[in-house]
Amino acid sequence: MKFKSITGAKDILPAESYRWQYVEQTFRDLAHRYNFKEIRTPVFEQTELFARSIGELTDIVGKEMYTFEDRSGNSLTLKPEMTAGVIRAFLQHNLGQQQPVTKVYYLAPMFRQERPQKGRLRQFHQFGLEIIGSPHAEADAEIIVMTAEYYSQLGITQAGLKINSVGCEKCRPAYKEKLKDYLRPHLSKLSQDSQRRFETNPLRILDSKDERDRELTIDAPLQKDNLCRECNEHFIRLQEILTEAAVSFTVDGRIVRGLDYYTKTAFEFISPALGSQDALSGGGRYDLLAKELGGGNVPAVGVAGGIERLLLVLEAGGLSAGGEQVPVVYLAAADNESRAWLYGITQQLRRNGIPCDTDLMNRSLKAQMREASRQQVLYTIIAGTAERNRNEVVVKNMERGKQKSVPVNELVDTLTQQLPGTGNAS
Ligand code: AMP
Repeated sequence: MKFKSITGAKDILPAESYRWQYVEQTFRDLAHRYNFKEIRTPVFEQTELFARSIGELTDIVGKEMYTFEDRSGNSLTLKPEMTAGVIRAFLQHNLGQQQPVTKVYYLAPMFRQERPQKGRLRQFHQFGLEIIGSPHAEADAEIIVMTAEYYSQLGITQAGLKINSVGCEKCRPAYKEKLKDYLRPHLSKLSQDSQRRFETNPLRILDSKDERDRELTIDAPLQKDNLCRECNEHFIRLQEILTEAAVSFTVDGRIVRGLDYYTKTAFEFISPALGSQDALSGGGRYDLLAKELGGGNVPAVGVAGGIERLLLVLEAGGLSAGGEQVPVVYLAAADNESRAWLYGITQQLRRNGIPCDTDLMNRSLKAQMREASRQQVLYTIIAGTAERNRNEVVVKNMERGKQKSVPVNELVDTLTQQLPGTGNAS
């Protein structure tokens, strides 16, 4: 074959798509229960939106974005994350004027040119939540509690939650200096990435995966111990609410988001089933982003989690991911003259909410019966010229092997009485 999918971009094939639908539907149902509404933003945006909002020097902007010029010479970028687009839309459409707090959720593909490995793709999918407009810890809690509930509903009991506070523009500058003073004597021994981050993003050195970096920073001062009063109260309040909501967590001073627009709460859900890429989801408060995008003072908090990683955890744990949708009835024509007539009946059944399939290959009755068995339907409906003349069909119960004639005008009722879960959808 001449063409293949792009490295790091995966096909979701028919045999596995039901698992995706299951985790997506579970998320949608839950989001509605928490009164979040869906937001969909375009797959591409002006490059500057991400370059400005993520910060010129972060990894995503530095090397990971899919950026291209369109024919008019505009620089466009496939979204590497959702938050910047959501806030752009919020500001552009003045959503804040419609209600004091805006709660939105999304399920969308993201694009990052990373080195592909298990749990790390170039096109991957995220679920996410954003609460825009509330500066209070209650909003942070709402995001975290619903995320925890989502994992719990999916049966993922081992998702560990780590929370931290990264302070605000009042207390972070002094802390940053304190951290840099601590790191300076060790600078030449830190990993290259960490050395690079010393000036641009010193907080990120604390969550380095490098063993030596970890050893060198073991006694480093942490932001959570250097918070201003407001940030400290916010952090305590969040812990109180999580405790009341029976969501267990640990405080981990090394969870950072690293970008200047992040404030106060930062958190991560991790799963031991994921190996080195163990982050199931991450989020935090980003009170300064809207201002960076040219909007006003709009406090906000959110989470984003990988769907592929979620599915890996479900698989590793042998957890259910719903069931495949299968037809329950197969319609087989006994002769060519009856095919069109039988197709009309197929359409009637579908209109009445009965999932069914029929032959599209003009096969013999024997081959159609084999196909019905292969599809493991509960009933096969068979009709030829004789049945057509009497306006009835033969209904065969595939499990018991028994069959009976049913008048066409009684067929829907007969089937819906016997088939669990089918209803009149017309
Ligand atoms: P981030 O936006 O980097 O905080 O990522 C949020 C979540 O998205 C992570 O916790 C992962 O579950 C998932 N994720 C991030 N990058 C990738 C990737 N390249 N491939 C698959 N999942 C990813």
